[in-house]
Amino acid sequence: MVTHTRWLVATRAAAIKDWSCCESIRRKSITTTLSCFSSTTRSSSLSCTWSPLTTIVSSMSYDKELAAAKKAATLAARLCQKVQKALLQSDVHSKSDKSPVTVADYGSQALVSLTLERELPSEPFSLVAEEDSGDLRKESGQDTLRRITDLVNDTVANEGSHSFSTLTTDDVLKAIDSGKSEGGSVGRHWVLDPIDGTKGFVRGDQYAIALALLDEGKVVLGVLACPNLPLATIGRNEQHSSSNEVGCLFFAKVGDGTYMQALDGSTQTKVNVSAVDNPEEASFFESYEAAHSSHDLSSTIAEKLGVKAPPVRIDSQAKYGALSRGDGAIYLRFPHKGYREKIWDHAAGCIVVTEAGGIVSDAAGNPLDFSKGKFLDVDTGIIVTNKNLMPSLLRAVKESLNEKASSL
Ligand code: AMP
Ligand code: MG
Repeated sequence: MVTHTRWLVATRAAAIKDWSCCESIRRKSITTTLSCFSSTTRSSSLSCTWSPLTTIVSSMSYDKELAAAKKAATLAARLCQKVQKALLQSDVHSKSDKSPVTVADYGSQALVSLTLERELPSEPFSLVAEEDSGDLRKESGQDTLRRITDLVNDTVANEGSHSFSTLTTDDVLKAIDSGKSEGGSVGRHWVLDPIDGTKGFVRGDQYAIALALLDEGKVVLGVLACPNLPLATIGRNEQHSSSNEVGCLFFAKVGDGTYMQALDGSTQTKVNVSAVDNPEEASFFESYEAAHSSHDLSSTIAEKLGVKAPPVRIDSQAKYGALSRGDGAIYLRFPHKGYREKIWDHAAGCIVVTEAGGIVSDAAGNPLDFSKGKFLDVDTGIIVTNKNLMPSLLRAVKESLNEKASSL
């Protein structure tokens, strides 16, 4: 384990050095031989040699990373679906048992980690994720660890993925612990919430597997697997939907737009946020859980803005997915005092919405900064909407927060 970690640290350090340079070259086009040298000058400690190879990669930025991320999130979603189904069929007594969520959470993280490493073998691997294997390494965690390992092996076998041989409990522990990275502004880091919205998962409602890639502190791609989200529009009181099929995969790559497809495979469709500019025609999303976001404050804001529709309350980053395809026009999130947002709760959702034409900011209008490690330091809350509504939404937020402050 120690040797493995040392190797990982050494490889990461070397790779980050390599990457910082090559990525800046990659993002600049072939026409800019000079920009290679300017990027070297910017970070004089990096050695950067211009080679024709770098021009070849320039045209396919993040393509293989996106393909790997879609595969990883889809496999993890299969695993979670299996556990949720069993959970919902279980009796009342075992429903209060937290272990199915634990098993799905760890299983999802292990599967994403293993898939990314297998699909991208030549890339250094850094993953910022919610879980670590501490509890599973204890004597009391052995039974859970065996269940997770069986579940991961079953999921891989059912998907007919031949790139894995049967995994041992040790393989699973190592895969979970790959998620120990702290992220930051240098190099690339995968960011994962293995099950976003565990409360919704347990209730049988919405949850998401949220995976994003940071490059030099910026989100460059994101995938949201939402196993229970209807393929048809939600939240607009449309009574007669042509389909009651569920399971959506949203994905976005910087500069390339946002797409949605069915989780079990279908042609992808490009999606866009709603273009509505009249708040009276807009509906808004918020957390199902009042403990995660103040429903009172969002109702004041919505009223000030002139929104007539009642809030649509759903769990997880499925809200970002729904917003990216125009199901609603606004998402309001105002956690209670003292809560610090984590990057894995917003990275994938953020790029899915912004590439679909939306804006994600904090309550003061600042963009979210994913470069500071695990936490997001936001001013008061997070708001999401389209370009037409953002100026008036920001005004309504400001007024509501001022009123709230003066009433205390
Ligand atoms: P949502 O379903 O949109 O409320 O988001 C679910 C996420 O909220 C979970 O994955 C948690 O990471 C996060 N969360 C947990 N506790 C809190 C809290 N007290 N306030 C805000 N968010 C929270
Ligand atoms: Mg979460």
